[in-house]
This record gives sequence, structure tokens and C-alpha cells, in this order.
Amino acid sequence: MTTAALPVHQPTQGAPDPQRGERIRATDRAHLFHNWAAQGGVNPIPVAGASGRHFWDYDGKRYLDFSSQFINMNIGHGHPKVVAAIKEQADRMCMIASTFANEQRGEAARLIAELAPGDLNHVFFTNGGADANEHAIRMARMHTGRPKVLSTYRSYHGGTAAAISLTGDPRRWANENSGSAAGNTVHFFGPYLYRSHFHATTEAEECARALAHLEQVIAFEGPSTIAAVLLESIVGTAGILVPPAGYLAGVRELCDRYGIVFIADEVMSGFGRAGEWFAIDHWGVTPDLITFAKGVNSGYVPLGGVVVSDEIYETFRDVVYPGGLTYSGHPLACAAAVAAITAMREERIIENAARVGAEVIGPGLRELASRHPSVGEVRGMGVFWAVELVRNRETREMLVPYAATGTQSRPVDEVVAFCKENGLWPVYNYNRIHVVPPCTITDEEAREGLAILDQALSIADKYTDG
Ligand code: PLP
Repeated sequence: MTTAALPVHQPTQGAPDPQRGERIRATDRAHLFHNWAAQGGVNPIPVAGASGRHFWDYDGKRYLDFSSQFINMNIGHGHPKVVAAIKEQADRMCMIASTFANEQRGEAARLIAELAPGDLNHVFFTNGGADANEHAIRMARMHTGRPKVLSTYRSYHGGTAAAISLTGDPRRWANENSGSAAGNTVHFFGPYLYRSHFHATTEAEECARALAHLEQVIAFEGPSTIAAVLLESIVGTAGILVPPAGYLAGVRELCDRYGIVFIADEVMSGFGRAGEWFAIDHWGVTPDLITFAKGVNSGYVPLGGVVVSDEIYETFRDVVYPGGLTYSGHPLACAAAVAAITAMREERIIENAARVGAEVIGPGLRELASRHPSVGEVRGMGVFWAVELVRNRETREMLVPYAATGTQSRPVDEVVAFCKENGLWPVYNYNRIHVVPPCTITDEEAREGLAILDQALSIADKYTDG
């Protein structure tokens, strides 16, 4: 069966076509091998089109996208300026090897370097976030001549060998068991006051103790063995954990003291998600390397990369950097990045994310927390929010346990199913619902989504014993 001859879909919703949807689903099930899944249980919704903050299926059902797909479509679906830039570049030249200079590639690098803090003036392009982290780690190891990289238990850094080894979340385990993970990785605990690993009761205490813990890990691992600390500026998938004031500055200080490279993973938190170009801008800290992907061009064409400080760039002035990719700086992806960054500036999309977070989503979620006993904590900034669900507010027992499998996740599965039935597409992770819509979301759309979430949380409330 082939779908090649089917006409192109328009970004406006056409008439439902359930039979076509079924054909697409059948072809998928016959030939697709899906990500992060036991293949036997996969049953994807065939999506017919998408526009702005919505997508729709072949039955004509519309979803308000509170996920930005994989938390990457910061500019929303089908932004006409980004689509036009890709078409224009495709007409001119689809591909030219990274050996050559290319207008869009250079311009994308210039814009990204201009947005990055401090002296991070050069960009190494990759295809996505995991390979951006792989290359940042490689640069740090060569720059320092040291092997180990430190990262937090509550983290996700990507699905390739070193990136999944540095990932803290349970997706790492099966990779370790199968021998697919890389070595020389060490995990530590980052700050997370609601479930403090340090018995802290204030943000200031959590910050000081988390930094003291990191310094101890550095001391016991041996500073002369450590190339880099890799940190999400705001932890994304593993909790949307906004660090306390002073934490990232403290990490910077520790890295300086011990000659360690500070890599900020901004793959999810960057390009407006947290209401700034880079989340780390909230604290005025300059890392040595920034990794990015997702929001740089909202994934209209795959793109990621590493922004490199002058000091690390100098290491490779006369020494060959032993890494590269066929599609490094792909012209279509870079054209999309130039258009996306330019549109985000012109249309003040990042300012919109910050404002909607501060005026609508944050207050809206806090109001839900005041009425639903299943909500233990809400936290976030910009369009980057977590609703943490508990069985009991006093004990903070998670509504779904860490690393839950099978029926253990039923309470949250039911909440998510209600949202989807009612046209809201959220993100969830164990006991959390993440509210991560595109940065372009309107106040009305945000309120509409929160109203559906309000009803869905009544299901979670039934599982509480507080
Ligand atoms: N780093 C972070 C913080 C991420 O959230 C992700 C993906 O979700 C990655 C890295 C990996 O990016 P990619 O899936 O593009 O390889």
C-alpha cells in the first residue's frame, strides 16, 4: 500500500476522511518501528493537518496542542514565514555539503551566536539534541583531556550512547542492561525543593546544599578526571525543575574552580520555552557550551547544535575536531532557523510566552491547585509548566510512582485519556502533567486548555487519600 499519490494537505481543516485515516494507520502498523515503545501496543492517531496551536485527525477531531508535539514546536504549527523560507531555499538549493559556505547556514550561526550569552561565538550544527550533547561532550573531553562527565539523576539528554548514559531518567536502565550505554558518566542530585534530597526547607537551603553535594561528588570522583558538568538549565522531561536563584551561578563557580567545562543543555528549555531566548538568561550565567535543537526552528526541518565559547574554539584552531555529520547545517533546516528566529523577534513571540506564563498559565494552575487535592505542586515559567500529582498532600506520595509500569500509571493514564477525549493534547511523565503549549498560544487558548485540565483533575482527586 502506498500513500505517495495522495494530494498535499492544506493547513486549513478539510472534510473528515476516516477511510484514509485507517489506511494511513494500517500502513504505519505494517511498517513503522516506533520510538520508546513495545511495538505490539502502538496504535497512533493518523494526523491530517495542523495549524497554529491545533492539529486534527482524519475523523475531523481537533486537538489543542498543550505538548508542542515533542515540546519542540515553539512557534506553533504551520508558521507561514518559516514554511515560505523552506520553500524558497528548496527552490534555490536543497543541499550543499558543510565543506562549503552557505548563506542560510552562516546566517543561522550568526543569529544563534548573537542570542547566546558571553563569548559563545561559534556554532557546530547537528541534526538534533542528542547528537548536540554527544559533540559538546567530545569537545569538553578534548579541551580538558579528561574523561568523565557529570549530570543529574533527574534529567534527559537524548537517546544516543553518551547522551542516554548521561540521562538520569529510567530510560537509561534498559540501555545500560543491553550494553548500549557509554562509560565515564557520573550522576548527582540537583536541586528539587518539593522532594529535597537534602532535607532542605527553603530555596536558599536547597541551593547551598545541592552545591555542597556537587562539590563533594567532584572531590570524590577526582577533579582531574572530570571534563564537564552537563545540566539542563531548567530540567524538562524529568520534572520542569526551575533551579533556585544562585544554583547555576554556583555550578559555574565550581566548574571554574576545578577547570571543568560547564555545558548547558538548552535543547528543551531554549528558544522561548521559558520566556527567554535561553533559560539560563534568567540567571545571567554564561556556560562554556550550550546545546540546542527543538525550538531553534521548531523542528520544521531537523536541526540542533552546540554554541561554543571562544576558549574552547581556540582548542580546535590548530587541532582537528574529530567529528562531523553529512547534514551538519543543512540549508533547509538553517533557512527554517533564520526564519523562525526572525519571526520570533518580529512578532515578540518570546515576550508572549513570558506574559502568558506569568498572567494566565501560572495563576490558572495555582488556582487549580487550590481546588484539587491531587495537586501537590505547580511550577514553571513561560510556557514550561508541571502539575505534580500526589495521593496525599501531607506525605507527598506520588500519584504514580517513579519508574511506574503497567497499571501503576492508571490514575494519570485516566487523566490524560479524559484530556484527549475532550480535545486537549497534554504531556505527562509518571505523576506529572506538563503544560507546554507553543510560545504563540493566546490567552483564550490557554484558558480553554486549563478548563479541560480542571475537569480531568477531578479524576485524579478520586485517587487521593488526604
Ligand atoms: N536534551 C534535552 C533536554 C531534551 O529534552 C531532549 C529531547 O527531548 C534531548 C536533549 C534530545 O534531543 P533529540 O530528541 O532532538 O535528540
